[in-house]
Amino acid sequence: MSDLQSYSMLIDGDWVAASDGGSFESVNPTTGAPWASIPAATAQDVDRAVRAAWYQFSEGPWSKMLPSQRGKLLRRLGDLLADKSEDLGRIETIDTGKMLKETRWQAKYIAEFFHFYAGLADKVTGETLPIDKPDMMAMTIREPLGVIAAVVPWNSQLFLVAVKIGPALAAGNTVVLKASEHASAAMLEFGKLIEEAGFPPGVVNIVCGMGEPCGRVLTTHPLVARISFTGGPGTARQIVRNSAENFAEVSLELGGKSPVVVFDDADLESATNGVMAGIFGASGQSCVAGSRLYLQDRIHDKFLAELSLRASKIQIGDPLAEETQMGPLCTLGQLNACETQVARAKDQGGTVHNGGKQPAHLNAGWFYEPTIVECPDQKMEIVDTEMFGPVLSVLRFRDEEEVVAKANDTKYGLASGIFTRDIARALRIQKQIRAGIVWINTYRVVSPIAEFGGFKDSGYGRESGAQAIYGYTRPKTVWINTSDAPIGNPFVMR
Ligand code: NAD
Repeated sequence: MSDLQSYSMLIDGDWVAASDGGSFESVNPTTGAPWASIPAATAQDVDRAVRAAWYQFSEGPWSKMLPSQRGKLLRRLGDLLADKSEDLGRIETIDTGKMLKETRWQAKYIAEFFHFYAGLADKVTGETLPIDKPDMMAMTIREPLGVIAAVVPWNSQLFLVAVKIGPALAAGNTVVLKASEHASAAMLEFGKLIEEAGFPPGVVNIVCGMGEPCGRVLTTHPLVARISFTGGPGTARQIVRNSAENFAEVSLELGGKSPVVVFDDADLESATNGVMAGIFGASGQSCVAGSRLYLQDRIHDKFLAELSLRASKIQIGDPLAEETQMGPLCTLGQLNACETQVARAKDQGGTVHNGGKQPAHLNAGWFYEPTIVECPDQKMEIVDTEMFGPVLSVLRFRDEEEVVAKANDTKYGLASGIFTRDIARALRIQKQIRAGIVWINTYRVVSPIAEFGGFKDSGYGRESGAQAIYGYTRPKTVWINTSDAPIGNPFVMR
């Protein structure tokens, strides 16, 4: 008898195993041992989930619900999430290694996203158009798109779900959510709240598995109207190709190599905290990780020394323990990537100021020390490689012009940070930075009210914020002839 915790998927309101009985193991990164058994959806399972979502969208009870009723369900979902934040946070921590104090707090705060979109459900409006024809009225009506395929990675599970299904459901769509193969458990626990909130069966379905066949079948399905994807750029390219099969709309929230710029007039205590939050928060496993640090000449050595000292004191260990400040990486692959990149950086002239190895006191799990690498050259491989780990590249700069050029010298463009007391300078620089988010004298702050998304290889489309709900609708244009006279002869041009 296996002692793994066994999970089922949510399809059409039923909790089911894979139709062929297939499953895979989820590994607890703190111990390196499997802890849960997750069903691996077959193509038939995914098809069933999409058809259930299509039924609810096109003719089931959901399709007849008023926007205000959808809003009430979303509000209830948010309330349940806040109530269950401890339990959900604990499961996410076991599955991903993210610290309980963060997963618990996130689950609670993410309730706000559902409340925000609940409030917007009955505020989506079309337009009356000042049309250039006599005796004619024209207007647009905003309609939901249909079945949304939400494909997510493993980090910040509940955040990613909220920014996708919050606006999607508020606008009247239905959803098939593909959980990450590295973190399905928290998502499936969240599915229980969907049921408890009272959504009709099939409005939200949760399928689990790998990219093949689960992700592919979902994103090529002819009944899918939009793919809302978060993950890495390589998978994103495949998703865009998949969308050629069904012409689904696509939005992409991808990776980053975000620059943080610290000028010599900055509040250095605040800047140090911002840099630490940006790269060592969530063990660096954040799409907005501030993984490239640019220090102005005059403060470079002092700042680097202080930062290294602070990093050396970070308590690394069990993510369930309240005193822990940094947990493990989620996967062995990421640990290997950090080791490989840091070794290459050393070969290319980099100096490791802290970390660069697994902690000696932890002999199981995927732990990696907070690592600071001073890079003499912007062209070093580590400077533009997303690692999804606690590894910071540090570079030096003289003036604004140089640092703007260096900050933009990347294939990514998700986030950025500027620390300075000169607000005019901060505003000059934010204008030149090619990234979707600029944090000035702060870092890693999110809100349901603020949009989120990137440039270049960090993707396209925006999530969060009020406008996101319009991305889950399309305008229908309605023309009305207001004249009693018969319409004219089509062969006479006037
Ligand atoms: P990933 O791209 O490997 O996987 C993401 C999801 O895509 C998973 O559910 C996976 O199963 C699925 N998938 C894989 N192949 C597929 C295919 N052929 N068709 C359809 N689906 C497929 O990402 P990951 O390694 O799990 O996550 C880390 C990445 O996510 C990083 O690059 C990170 O920066 C990014 N990320 C971005 C944001 C953001 O909002 N910008 C947030 C979190 C993470």
